[in-house]
Amino acid sequence: MHNDRDLVEKRIQRELWQRVLPLVHPERCQLTIDAGPDVDHLEPFEAGSSWGAPWATTWFRLRGEIPASWSGQRVEAVIDLGFNPNAAGFQCEGLVVDLADDGTFTPLQGIHPRRTNFGVAATPGPLTLHVEAASNPMFPGFVPSSLGSLDTAGDRLLYRFRTAALVVVDPEAEALAYDIEVLDGVMRTLSVHDPRRARLLRTLAETLDRIPDVGAARRVIAPALAEDFGDAVRHRSVAIGHAHIDTAWLWPIRETKRKCTRTFASAVALMDDYPEYKFGASSAQHYAWIEERHPELFAKIVERVERGQWEPVGGMWVEADMNLPSGESLVRQIVFGQRYFEERFGRRCTEVWIPDVFGYPAGLPQVFAAGGMDRFVTQKLSWNKQNRFPHSTFWWEGLDGSRVLTHFPPVDTYNAEITPQEFGFSITNFRDHGWSTDSLLPFGHGDGGGGPTREMLERARRLAHIDSRATIEVDTADAMFTRIERGIERGASVPVWRGELYFETHRGTLTSQLKTKLGNRRCERLLVEAELWSAALNRPADLDALWKQVLTQQFHDILPGSSIAWAHQDAESVFAEVEAELQQRIGELIAEAAGGGACVANRADTAVDEVVIVAASSVASTISGDHTQQLADGSTALRVDAPALGIGPLVPRAVDDRVVVTDSSMTNRHLAVRWDAFGNLTSIIDLQRARELIPTGQLGAVLELAPDHPVEYDAWDLESWTRAGAATLDGSDGVEVRIVDAGPLVGRVRVARSFGPSSSVVTYQLRADCAQLDIGIELEWHHDEHLLSMAVPLDVRTDVAMCDVQFGVVARPTHPSSPWDAAKFEVCAHRFVDLAEPDFGVAVLNNGRFGHNVFDGAIRVSLARAAMYPDPNADRGHHEVDLAIRPHGAGLGEVRAAASRLDQPVRVIDGTEASFPTVVAARVIGADGESADGVEVDAVKLADDGSGDLIVRLHEAVGNRVRVSVDTPGCRVAEAWRCNLLEEPHGGEEVGDGVVTLTVRPFQIVTLRLRRTASSDGRTLTA
Ligand SMILES: [Zn+2]
Repeated sequence: MHNDRDLVEKRIQRELWQRVLPLVHPERCQLTIDAGPDVDHLEPFEAGSSWGAPWATTWFRLRGEIPASWSGQRVEAVIDLGFNPNAAGFQCEGLVVDLADDGTFTPLQGIHPRRTNFGVAATPGPLTLHVEAASNPMFPGFVPSSLGSLDTAGDRLLYRFRTAALVVVDPEAEALAYDIEVLDGVMRTLSVHDPRRARLLRTLAETLDRIPDVGAARRVIAPALAEDFGDAVRHRSVAIGHAHIDTAWLWPIRETKRKCTRTFASAVALMDDYPEYKFGASSAQHYAWIEERHPELFAKIVERVERGQWEPVGGMWVEADMNLPSGESLVRQIVFGQRYFEERFGRRCTEVWIPDVFGYPAGLPQVFAAGGMDRFVTQKLSWNKQNRFPHSTFWWEGLDGSRVLTHFPPVDTYNAEITPQEFGFSITNFRDHGWSTDSLLPFGHGDGGGGPTREMLERARRLAHIDSRATIEVDTADAMFTRIERGIERGASVPVWRGELYFETHRGTLTSQLKTKLGNRRCERLLVEAELWSAALNRPADLDALWKQVLTQQFHDILPGSSIAWAHQDAESVFAEVEAELQQRIGELIAEAAGGGACVANRADTAVDEVVIVAASSVASTISGDHTQQLADGSTALRVDAPALGIGPLVPRAVDDRVVVTDSSMTNRHLAVRWDAFGNLTSIIDLQRARELIPTGQLGAVLELAPDHPVEYDAWDLESWTRAGAATLDGSDGVEVRIVDAGPLVGRVRVARSFGPSSSVVTYQLRADCAQLDIGIELEWHHDEHLLSMAVPLDVRTDVAMCDVQFGVVARPTHPSSPWDAAKFEVCAHRFVDLAEPDFGVAVLNNGRFGHNVFDGAIRVSLARAAMYPDPNADRGHHEVDLAIRPHGAGLGEVRAAASRLDQPVRVIDGTEASFPTVVAARVIGADGESADGVEVDAVKLADDGSGDLIVRLHEAVGNRVRVSVDTPGCRVAEAWRCNLLEEPHGGEEVGDGVVTLTVRPFQIVTLRLRRTASSDGRTLTA
């Protein structure tokens, strides 16, 4: 729940009076009233009438009948002489008397402003009560009054008799009213930062939720009245020793290895002196370095883990960035991490530990849970610049509905020192006192600061019992989560946050250090491709070492581009070596599959049949002649086809369409594109749907150059005002526009432009029978502290942009209406961003950028930044990237498939005459036999356990519920299981006729293990 304290406090007061108190008297009957100066002169009297001259005495006779049905219940007369309840005395009073026949009476009980009830026997039958009432005047407000003397008081009647009734009293409801009144009062006396106040507020609200069920309400409220309430809600700061070590940052990996050694040695040493001391450390890679370099220290760590003092946390290879790696990379971070922890320490981690990562995509909960971690720790969102996150502990619900129990340590740091100030802050800053008593306090100097110190542990001992609101306990993250989970099992109501945890700062990390980012993007895709072709040939891929090298570089200061130059140079050379190795292996695998024949290898998950462009270096005899077009840059265009995830013979085909090019336009069957004299796009018409894409009077796909001066953290931050200062590069200065290719298969117009120290070549390209405009961008980028974007304004009206992220798409606002919307002025998208009306949309695809702005009716792709800190030369130099503008009909399946083809283009390889049988690693199609465009295949690989089983990981990527069939051409699926990410089966799948057919829910990830029988060509595939 969000902070609704003021409203709930008002609710309690109103509902106590208007909903709870009426329950105290479930039945009532009015008494008839007679009144007079003495018992012998009584006259009928109506409730609501005035009575009582100043200082006089009035007698009331009250008569009624107790119904037979009231027998055995608690019955009272309620007599209100017209009291002012806000003054307990100083006004009229009454006396219930037992009146004898001779007129004498015995006092029974007074009737007062705050005591209007008089208990009577619940004996069915008539009942008579006599009340002697004194109409004493009131003297309020220091106002001079004539009522103080009989001589001047006069005879005006002072009071209006309000009611006289018999009521049944429900003692439980009465008790409940007392419970609520007392606890509400106690609550209001406590500080708003006191955990007990939040807990009482929540308890009272939940009590009122049960009304009118009094019994249920009392059961809810009872613990708050119990003797141990204070102890039960006392906050517990679970202090876990920690040393956040950045795998590289303001130092290279070389030094990180030594930082780990020093820090881990210190952590071990302190454990003997402080037996209560617990230390948590993440990142399998860090342990692996210790294991390799210092086995004796590693042995001590193993021993401390067994002893329970050392807690391996996080379950990942490194604390990776979460925005930029592919979905499959995130999977492997967990697979390699969890395997390492299990093999070395005999245990897997149950929590993801990435306190310092710059934003958390909506697909993550499912990935974490499928990797065996349904708990998640981070605190980075406390750095949000615009909006304060409303929860400390909550269910985080992802795209597919998976939930992980998420905790933000309220001390707002992962380098705490256990000072009294931090302890106090962590109590007042915790946002879930209403239902939870536990929070984490990670303490210890990070990044070579040496981790926890004696001083911290000594302070923890002394702070343990000093504050009545909270205690410090040195313990593990597991202990804290276990206690929270117990509370949830007992029915605690946990707030839910659905969708991404967008980080409202460090948005520049989506763009900084492009060569690092693109090296990763290429390598992670090549790794998956190498696995794919290895699986197609049914042989182990043997890629663990290469995977680990790439995973290490995905660390949360390397991939985001926030490290010093050395770290990025290291990353680029790792990626270059890995890429070279993988390209060679892939080349060999494809050549083997094709038997040296000319072939098309399609690693994308949808079949290809389109015009592609083959680089000059690959062109030989097979790729020439009929059905081809020589392009000006020496490359060749031709139409090829190939099955999804397969390798087929290269057979150039005729194209039933042509690109027609004039000085200012290009047209094919799908699109008509026009540009002005300066090479700016003025019109893109979707001919099939008769829609102009570019808003009237605007220019499409123009470069925008903006000064980029973050307030702090240069490589990290992009400010909301940066784009407001952008200049549009659409003028005549330094422009050269040239038609370079004029069809029939490919039309290209090349726009070269220089601006200050930088220059660009933007090539607009239309291919025959292709429904997208390709945009090739080459940059010589030599500005300092500028942001260069490409803006694509679109005539599409929508509130949200759909952005491609790992394992799905996420909606971002196209407008800054609320503070939460406004904060999303730069968002991450992997391969496309789409603006759509229900039946028509336009996507901007890319093969190598992440940062986008989707405000103001445009999609802007951040092409390059040029930060000065911490790497003063970051990103200066040559860059290339391909974008595409693609209009489409309803749904995103076609867009996803096109984006996948742009990101992973087919390989066209020349060779001998092509006459080999097509090789397909696995086939994933709609159950109706149609292609399943919205289903993405993440990995096809042999199982890691060496069984020979085939692993196929796929997910539904655009939000549909689909039935798909999976099979392996060339052999039959005999058995199939659904698995977790570690390829462990948790449920069998039905196999029919060698094919698995299954339903995939929106955004669901499915990892299938397929056991295959001998193939039709005689190859044996089972282990
Ligand atoms: Zn960090």
